[in-house]
Amino acid sequence: MPRTYFPRPSNYHFPLWLGISFIAAAFIGLATIFIEPIEDWAHRHYLTWHLILEIASIAFAFAVFALGWSTYRKHPQRNILYLACAFIGVALLDIAHTLSFEGMPAFVTPNNPEKAIYFWLVARYMAAVGLLIVVWLPWPSVNELPQRHGRIAHLVWPLSLVLAIVLLTLGVVLYAPAWLPQVFNTETGLSDLKIVSEYGIITLHILALAILLRRLPNNSECNLYLLASALLLMAVSELLFTSYTAISDTAMLLGHIYKAAAYLLLYMALDTGHLQPPPFRIQQLEKALEIAIQNQQVHLAFQPVMGLSNGRLAGAEVLIRWTHPKLGTIGPAEFIPIAEKSGLMPEIGEWVLKNAVAQIALWVRQGLPPNVCFSVNLSLVQFRYPLLVERIRQLLETYQLPPHFLGLEITESVAMHNAESAIQTLRTLREQGISLSIDDFGTGHASLSHLKLFDANTLKIDQSFVRDLALDPRDRAIVQAIVTMAHALGMRTIAEGVETAAQLEILKTLGCDQVQGYYFSRPLSTEEFEAFSLSHRRPQAISA
Ligand code: C2E
Ligand code: CA
Ligand code: CA
Repeated sequence: MPRTYFPRPSNYHFPLWLGISFIAAAFIGLATIFIEPIEDWAHRHYLTWHLILEIASIAFAFAVFALGWSTYRKHPQRNILYLACAFIGVALLDIAHTLSFEGMPAFVTPNNPEKAIYFWLVARYMAAVGLLIVVWLPWPSVNELPQRHGRIAHLVWPLSLVLAIVLLTLGVVLYAPAWLPQVFNTETGLSDLKIVSEYGIITLHILALAILLRRLPNNSECNLYLLASALLLMAVSELLFTSYTAISDTAMLLGHIYKAAAYLLLYMALDTGHLQPPPFRIQQLEKALEIAIQNQQVHLAFQPVMGLSNGRLAGAEVLIRWTHPKLGTIGPAEFIPIAEKSGLMPEIGEWVLKNAVAQIALWVRQGLPPNVCFSVNLSLVQFRYPLLVERIRQLLETYQLPPHFLGLEITESVAMHNAESAIQTLRTLREQGISLSIDDFGTGHASLSHLKLFDANTLKIDQSFVRDLALDPRDRAIVQAIVTMAHALGMRTIAEGVETAAQLEILKTLGCDQVQGYYFSRPLSTEEFEAFSLSHRRPQAISA
């Protein structure tokens, strides 16, 4: 039976778990309503705590505005601008709410619970509608939008609308409160209208969350997990506001805590680049990448490659991993192109090669089962580096690693960039005893005449042909053609991205030599790879 290894959960998903934990905590917190000493304590200190929590959430709302605004000025992105505008309104209305709270000095007119609740409700609706619009609209930059009203309109309209709502609310609540329906009664507590209004806010949050969750799996513009957590927390906070009977009880205090925490998460979503448009994130990653290696934020992962005929560990691909303390896990598919453009790739490539050779040499010395070839990916910049061959020779010598343990992978496009010199480099590397793979085969534009001259050992069949192998007969035909051609040219084939038993079965019948993919194992840490190789050292029946 093939064994599947999963890596530790990525902290990319962490914020969502944080959100879910907050909800669990909210329900536990709710239980404190029934504990009298806590309830008494809340009654005695509610004004202080209300003030502290409101000041915190007002500060977070202002911070959301300020950060959204500055992001917009650098990279005009419509949705972030809307979010910023909505939150300046939220901050202003929450100031009015705090000043109107019973027990505070009179804010223009005498304070009472109803006055505070009116400001509260408008602020919450503004946040909820703002967030719903933000998640619902697509995320183009302002430059990509039709310029019907000119760029300034994107800025002036939402801000004017929000400020108009704030002024109108202030005017009516302060000078014409008689127009407004009752939301609170000192004897009976909240009116039905207030409770229904809170459920309206919860519904808006849940709607926004549902839209967001649909987009999460294939969202490419930004990482929306932090935003999802913030929405969850806001919904929980509102739930607590449907249940209080006195303005000073525990449910109310808890609700305020969750509201402040939700706004903090929203700020973090902006601050960590989760909600930022690609150009901003690129700049941010570029900066962060400069110190990633010194700060030991990168490490290597090893993905097993299995022999199809004997089910034995046949090799492994070395893949770089980057975990930033604030930005979370960032995939190589995202940061390698940035490193290439910003000139950081030579340093990163050198780090990968050196650490890979050191680790493999250690395994070889320890006599660990991985008596197999480890292949390292080379980017275009690395491959064109004139001293590449010499550097690899030096590393092998320094770490006393026999060359047949090391393989190199280059994509078709890298090989074709300057095909004549590539052929020369590849030949020299092979003469040193290093094996070579052409990566992502079938997606680039290698000509067959060059393929013959590259004289690589292995063709790696790209995942895109493997994905629908069991469904699309055309993919099957392509894989069959690649395998036949590779064998005729004396090359091995490795199918990438094998995830299912059905794909494996077909690859076997098509005569593919080796497979790599989540079906057997995800990329593993050093210790996990050691364990995996120990359990896969003997041949085993490989069956679907
Ligand atoms: P690649 O060379 O094609 O590497 C294979 C990618 O497919 C890896 O993604 C791997 O985690 C993923 N993968 C493996 N099995 C499966 C599967 O069953 N299903 C799916 N959906 N994916 C699978 P990863 O690690 O995110 O790397 C992405 C790309 O970044 C690599 O593509 C490679 O081009 C580049 N890269 C990674 N590490 C390095 C490095 O150290 N140096 C250079 N120059 N490039 C690297
Ligand atoms: Ca590769
Ligand atoms: Ca590949």
